[in-house]
Amino acid sequence: MIVVEDLDRLDVAVNRAKTALLDLGDRPIGAVLAIGDNLLFIDHSQAKSKKNCWAHAENQLLVNHSHLIWQAQQDKKPVVLYSTMECCLMCAGAAVHHRVSRIVYLCPDALGGALHINQEALDVFSRQRWPEIEGGLELLCLPHLDEIQQARARTLFKDSVWLYEQWIQRWDESPEKDLLQNQFALLREKIESSSSNPV
Ligand SMILES: [Zn+2]
Repeated sequence: MIVVEDLDRLDVAVNRAKTALLDLGDRPIGAVLAIGDNLLFIDHSQAKSKKNCWAHAENQLLVNHSHLIWQAQQDKKPVVLYSTMECCLMCAGAAVHHRVSRIVYLCPDALGGALHINQEALDVFSRQRWPEIEGGLELLCLPHLDEIQQARARTLFKDSVWLYEQWIQRWDESPEKDLLQNQFALLREKIESSSSNPV
């Protein structure tokens, strides 16, 4: 269940995503790692600036704080990963190996998102350690959550598309615009093809 604390942390991630894009020339993807109740770490995608394929926001947070996460596991503290974008296969894999308890994300990534892959196709190790996943289309509807909860699936999809579109438009002048629009087009396609089937 999404709580206010989650929204606060997503807000931090969104601000970092903006900084990454506007000030640092990186991709607009921000992430926050919460270890236990008190430890918070923030990062953004640096794949572009570092010319490094693994320097995704989420992966960097996990790798750079691996020893703290290890200790948190010993102490049975929860480890939660927040991201402005649905994690890719690499970051989801890193989360599994770090035994992340939950992943909360904002925008679905119809292009490279891996949080909703068929878990039955995974190996036993990954399946047993797959984090609780929250966010995506439902989270994008948070400003209207009460109505959305009562709405039919078709309405939920339409509202999600609208909010996602608004989110993308904030980066209208962005060099990433084409990439984001491409992702949006794929998302729309996916949504339109599933709009006849209730969630
Ligand atoms: Zn990734």
